[in-house]
Amino acid sequence: MNFGKITSLESYTDEFVCFVKVTTDEGLEGWGQTSTYNADITAQVLHRQVAPWVLGQSADDIGFLINRVEAKEHKYPGSYRCRANAGLDTALWDLQGKAQNKPVVELLGGKVKALRAYASSMKRDITPQDEAKRFVELRDKYGFDAFKWRVGAECGNDVDEWPGRTEEVVPVVSRALGDGISKLVDGNSGFSPKRAIEVGKLLQAEGISHFEEPCKYWELSETKEVTDALEIDVTGGEQDWDLSTWQRMIDMRAVDVLQPDVMYMGGIWRTLKVVDLAKKAGLPITPHSANLSLVTICTMHLLGAIDNPGKYLEFSIEQEDYYPWQVGLFLGDPFKVEGGKVIIPSEPGWGVTINPEWLAKATRQVSSK
Ligand SMILES: [Mg+2]
Repeated sequence: MNFGKITSLESYTDEFVCFVKVTTDEGLEGWGQTSTYNADITAQVLHRQVAPWVLGQSADDIGFLINRVEAKEHKYPGSYRCRANAGLDTALWDLQGKAQNKPVVELLGGKVKALRAYASSMKRDITPQDEAKRFVELRDKYGFDAFKWRVGAECGNDVDEWPGRTEEVVPVVSRALGDGISKLVDGNSGFSPKRAIEVGKLLQAEGISHFEEPCKYWELSETKEVTDALEIDVTGGEQDWDLSTWQRMIDMRAVDVLQPDVMYMGGIWRTLKVVDLAKKAGLPITPHSANLSLVTICTMHLLGAIDNPGKYLEFSIEQEDYYPWQVGLFLGDPFKVEGGKVIIPSEPGWGVTINPEWLAKATRQVSSK
């Protein structure tokens, strides 16, 4: 199908979220999103370093466009270029889906279905007792059968959030949840290999099956030491965007489960590269999707289509008290959980409608040809 030539890229942003609208001369449009946080800065990258290379180009071949931006902006590799490209990529997938009257999951070769979700806590400033209490409530109310909570401190160099928290939060939460529940924890680059292995032994004793980002993520050999020493899955990759780093991570078996973030990766097209590398190596993909913006919607479509999905979708349990910026982004509730599962939206494209009231309050900028 001919989707036409790209005539404009529009951004609607606040400090946290930037939605992107792409329009073509065939009168088609699609909505995407850059990665969250510092979204206003990312919007500038989109207009200065992405738009000039894609305006006037065909909207048909998303990979060609991403490669073109990367080549033209080869002196600016890294996170911001990917974050901005994610806005272009995800808007184009939406456009192509809407033009063909299909949800993106079908464009990717999958179909709409229910996905098991794990309830993911973003908090460390919470006592083990309070974490356990809210998990049990969520288990009983929504039927979640998988939970992730936090140990150590973010990039904490073995210094805990407060003394003894890790040793307490692991058994308190695990035992409160009881049997028949998948239990995951996240170290957020907090430990040395020695301390991570010590924590890992505690996790194994308490029935936790997934130990995420135990060591500094950029030190792959440290993570590998932990993976080799433990029986349970060691997981990681959420920060990584560079495909040669992914290849290295896979070749050395630094982790058991790979966790690309669709938005940090620069969109679906680049994430599929990681999916393919993982598939060749026989490794599962459990993407990082840590808030209820478009990242979780895009991840749902991806998980519905790939051959090597992990066991569940990451589903943030944080609400307006903690992430006030994610309130009111969409019309309706695309994140409804029943029996611990969410359903991939079945409407064309991403299948969600961005809230016009949110857009009206955002800062708008247009690049057009
Ligand atoms: Mg994580």
